[in-house]
Amino acid sequence: MAQLINIAARCEKIGLTRSYSSSVPIVKMFIDGQFVDSKSTEYTEVHDPATNKLICCTPKSTLTEMEDAVTSAKKAFSTWRHSSVLTRQTLMLRYQGLIREHSKDLAANLVQENGKTMADAEGDVLRGLQIIDMCAGIPNFLLGESMNNIATDMDTISYKVPLGVTGSICPFNFPAMVPLWTFPISIACGNATIVKPSERVPGASMILADLFSKAGAPPGLLNVIHGQREAVNFICDHPDIKAVSFVGSDQAGKYIYERSSARGKRVQCNNGAKNHCIVMPDANKNKSISQIVGAAFGAAGQRCMALSVAVFVGNSKHWITDIVEAAKRLNVNAGHVPSADFGPVISPQSKSRILELVESGVNDGAGLPLDGRAIKVPGYENGNFVGPTVITRVQPHMRCYKEEIFGPVLLCMEAGSLDEAIQLINNNPYGNGTAIFTTNGATARRFTELIEAGQIGINVPIPVPLPMFSFTGNKKSFFGDNNFYGKSGINFHTQTKTITQLWRAGDATDISTATTMPTMQ
Ligand code: NAD
Repeated sequence: MAQLINIAARCEKIGLTRSYSSSVPIVKMFIDGQFVDSKSTEYTEVHDPATNKLICCTPKSTLTEMEDAVTSAKKAFSTWRHSSVLTRQTLMLRYQGLIREHSKDLAANLVQENGKTMADAEGDVLRGLQIIDMCAGIPNFLLGESMNNIATDMDTISYKVPLGVTGSICPFNFPAMVPLWTFPISIACGNATIVKPSERVPGASMILADLFSKAGAPPGLLNVIHGQREAVNFICDHPDIKAVSFVGSDQAGKYIYERSSARGKRVQCNNGAKNHCIVMPDANKNKSISQIVGAAFGAAGQRCMALSVAVFVGNSKHWITDIVEAAKRLNVNAGHVPSADFGPVISPQSKSRILELVESGVNDGAGLPLDGRAIKVPGYENGNFVGPTVITRVQPHMRCYKEEIFGPVLLCMEAGSLDEAIQLINNNPYGNGTAIFTTNGATARRFTELIEAGQIGINVPIPVPLPMFSFTGNKKSFFGDNNFYGKSGINFHTQTKTITQLWRAGDATDISTATTMPTMQ
């Protein structure tokens, strides 16, 4: 009960209400600058992954409510599109300050709804905040192109102009960072936005909406609706939503990409992953081992850039024993416990899926030198915990290799040479991230040249680019043309207008008519 009282205090602050039942709050929506109750009678329960206690319920927004959100966004857009770039910059600078000020509140919400550790949750907020930092530089990003005297007395200028209303569909694993990957950029570019957070972690988006409003955002620029398939379909189908951003699993990404594209929308989908690293025998052993362990098991392996497969070249395979020993030392506990290295996975269903995939590996003949399936965390016996797990002798045909596990499980494979390891990785359909551990520059360079994944780390296990670059996953891990954030993100959220103008003295007296194609000489 004590826990619910604490939650209630936080809920009140972020616009949650307790009207659903005597003790469980229902998450509000954020429409037209107001936190509003949904009239829906359908909800998704949100549980604390460390205890499985009910925290709150996410409503499935009704069609009328979602229409209200679009109407509000369209109205906001009609004014905002004409706002000065400096006005948008000022809004982002104010927002930046408020997020920084409230980053602990945001992180605490993430710990509770997602289960990640406090330190990891603060990282989630910080990586999102870095997008606001980027948006504070929006005047530079929106610079167009121009050419004086492209023909006699003629100039051409191109502007990056907004699209209208955009939509963003988010996953559970980065409740703050992923919404921040999209809506601030969209708005800084002059659009208005509808965000649909994961129904499993709605709180962070509500706090972000509250802070955006406090930063002075006009009503309707950012709207938050909730739900699952119906809300997704609504965003994909609505003719006034011009662009759709999605981050989540492959299945949903394929569905959303096809459905939105079929309606002529621009779409960017960041999907699932299977990130490999290569461990060369010349690598710095201790550093590589600690990097691999952190990247494989951090956030309980629930990062799209988690290292899920290590390919050992030659004698580096003997380091697997050290990796197992280092993994055994990790402290698995509830996210708010300060000594926790990682917390529970998001749901009992997710835990069952992970355990089943581990079992499938064993049945397919793989080794299991570290088995975290039976872990018990004292005081949190009902939580969705999976201990660090290492599977060896993995082969490409095994189900545990072919499917994304999205849990604290490291698969170990072996290769006879660098080129064999590269080929193995390139044969995998995913292309989110990859890394190599080596002290040899020529090896690193060959890897960089030949590897097909979109984000490459050289002695960097999770090479997620900062927003002066873009998040550049490829192959099955990304559908679309323009990646998230950076210059690609700006391109995604803008269209180009090109103006060709002729200001020639004496035009008023020149009445000649040309019917040929203008060659502008
Ligand atoms: P998910 O696909 O289950 O959910 C993501 C969003 O899609 C949610 O808002 C959900 O309501 C909606 N959704 C879910 N199933 C749907 C369906 N069948 N049809 C339409 N909409 C649907 O993903 P998740 O479990 O929340 O997140 C984990 C996944 O996201 C992992 O696969 C991970 O690799 C991926 N991810 C990728 C990146 C990246 O940048 N590539 C980043 C974060 C997460």
